Amino acid sequence: MLRITELRLPLDHPQDALRPAILARLGIADAALRGYTVFRRSYDARRKSAIVLIYTIDCEMAEEAEEAELLARFADDRHVRPAPDTRYRPVAQAPADFAASGRPRPVVIGFGPCGIFAALVLAQMGLRPIVLERGKAVRERTKDTWVLWRRGVLEPESNVQFGEGGAGTFSDGKLWSQISDPRHLTRKVLDEFVKAGAPEEILYVAKPHIGTFRLVTMVEKMRADIVALGGEVRFGQRVADLRIEDGQVRGLTLADGEQLRTEHVVLAVGHSARDTFAMLHERGVRMDAKPFSVGFRIEHPQSLIDRARFGPNAGNPILGAADYKLVHHAGNGRSVYSFCMCPGGTVVAATSEPGRVVTNGMSQYSRNERNANAGIVVGISPEDYRQDRSGGGPVSPLDGIAFQRVWESRAYELGGGGYLAPGQLVGDFVAGRHGDALARDFGSVLPSYKPGVTLTDLAEPGNGSLPDYALAAIREALPAFERQIKGFSMADAVLTGVETRTSSPLRIPRGRDFQSLNVAGLYPAGEGAGYAGGIMSAGVDGIEVAEAVGLSLLKPGG
Ligand code: FAD
Repeated sequence: MLRITELRLPLDHPQDALRPAILARLGIADAALRGYTVFRRSYDARRKSAIVLIYTIDCEMAEEAEEAELLARFADDRHVRPAPDTRYRPVAQAPADFAASGRPRPVVIGFGPCGIFAALVLAQMGLRPIVLERGKAVRERTKDTWVLWRRGVLEPESNVQFGEGGAGTFSDGKLWSQISDPRHLTRKVLDEFVKAGAPEEILYVAKPHIGTFRLVTMVEKMRADIVALGGEVRFGQRVADLRIEDGQVRGLTLADGEQLRTEHVVLAVGHSARDTFAMLHERGVRMDAKPFSVGFRIEHPQSLIDRARFGPNAGNPILGAADYKLVHHAGNGRSVYSFCMCPGGTVVAATSEPGRVVTNGMSQYSRNERNANAGIVVGISPEDYRQDRSGGGPVSPLDGIAFQRVWESRAYELGGGGYLAPGQLVGDFVAGRHGDALARDFGSVLPSYKPGVTLTDLAEPGNGSLPDYALAAIREALPAFERQIKGFSMADAVLTGVETRTSSPLRIPRGRDFQSLNVAGLYPAGEGAGYAGGIMSAGVDGIEVAEAVGLSLLKPGG
C-alpha cells in the first residue's frame, strides 16, 4: 500500500474527482490503480472564499512491482510514502486454562473511556477483568442527569462525572488528540468505536466527533463485548479502600463493605473522584499537585462563528459547524485559552457534589443547536492554590481540590441555589461594570445551561467568582480574541460560571511499567491520574495500561 499526503482539492469538488486527482499525482494510468481509501480528510480555511480539502489517500496498485517502482520514482517526495501498518496486535494472550488457575482477576476501577478500553483490551487478552463503577448503567444515569438539568436535584453518585461511560458520555464526543502515537493506538480506539456503532467517517475526518446520543449506545455495546469475553462490569460499586501490604496491592474494599482479592488494579477514576484521591493519599500512594485551569463558559450564536471561520462557505455540510481554538498571553503573565469548544451545543451542569456549580459543554452529532460554547480558562499552578499560605511546606496534592471547591461553592451561592449558574453579559464583564450598571436581561444570546442562569456580577471587586488575577486575564483576553474571530467580544455573548474541572488537579506518578512509584500492582491511568486529557487520550492510556497489566500477569511466575 502506498500513501499520498497533502492531496488538495477545492471544497466543492465532485465526488468522482478524487480518482483522476490520484492518477495525475502519481502519473499512472487508470488500470494501474486497483483501489484507494481515504485515510484522512481535513481542510485549509485560511482563505475563506477558497477553502481547500486536504486528503491523505492509501492506494493499492494492480501490480506489486508498480508500487515499488512508484516509491523509487517518488523517493525525494515526502508526500508519497509506503502506508504504515496501523493494525493493532495484542501484546499477550492468556492460556486457555487461565480462568481455572485460581489467580486473582485484574480489577479496573472506573468505566469511563480509560476504564472501558483497559477492560476491553484485558478481556481481549483473555484476562477476564472485573470492572467496578460507582455510578449507574448509562440509561439510568441519563435519567438522573436530566433530573439535575430539569429540576435542579443532584444525585451525587450518578451525574455528568460519574456513571457508565465516564465524563465523556454527555459530551461533544470530540475524538482528536495531539498525543504522540507511534503505535497507532488512536486507530485501535476509533476502530473499536466504529464496531460499537460510531459513524465510519470518524476513521477519516480530521476532527471526528460522535455526540451524546450515539455515545450512549456505543458504551452499552462495548460493555456487552467485555462481558461476552468473560469480563464482569458492576455498577453502583464505589471502591472505598485499598489493601496494600509491603508496598503491593492485595485487595480492595467496596463502599458496602465487600472485599475483593486482587493484585492488579487499574485506577481509572477520572478527575472528579475527590473522595478516592483522599483515600489514596491517606494510604500513602504517592501523588503530586499539578497545574490546571479555571474560568467560564462563553456562548455566542453559532452562525457568528461559522461566518468568522468560513466566510461565504459558512453552512457547507462538509465543513459542518465551525470550531475555534484561541490563546492569549495576558499582561499579568497568565495564559487564557479556549477549552473543549462545542460547536452547535449546550452548556451543561457538570457538578458531582451537592451545593456546588460546575460548567462544561456537550453537543449532539448534528451540532445544530443555536449557540457555540467553549470554556475560556486561565492556567493556574500549585503555587496559586496552595492552602499553606506561608509557603513553608510542600503543596499538598489535595490542595487543588480544596481550591476548586471554594469557587464551585461560590458559583452556587452567586447563582442563588438550586444549581442555577451565575452568568454575566460579555459587554458588562469587559467594561468592568458593577451594581446597577449591569444588564438585568439577556440580549440576543440566550444561555443554554439548565436548570438556568442567574445574571449577576461575576467580577464584584473583592468578592468575585474567581481569583482576581483570573478575572483580569479573561477581561483582557476577550477583546484580544476579537482579532481572530470578529464578534467574539460582542456585548450580548454570555459568560456562565464556573469551569473548574478542566483536568485533574493532581498526578499519581507511575514508572515505565505503568505501576505507581510506591505501590506495586496499582496502575494509575487516564485523566484522573494526570495521564490523559480527553476521550481519545484516555482510551489510548487505557490500552497501554491494560497491556502492562497483561504482560505482568502473564510473565513466567507473574
Ligand atoms: P472518566 O471519564 O472521568 O471516568 C472515571 C469513572 O470512574 C467515572 O465513571 C466514575 O464514576 C468512576 N469512579 C470514580 N471513582 C470511583 C470509585 N472510587 N469507584 C468506582 N468507580 C469510580 N473529552 C473529549 O475528548 N472530547 C469531548 O468532546 C469532551 N467533552 C466533554 C464534555 C463534558 C461535559 C465533560 C464532563 C468532559 C468532556 N471531555 C471531553 C473530557 C473527557 O470526558 C474526559 O477527558 C474523559 O472522560 C476522561 O476519561 P477517564 O476514563 O480517564 O475518566
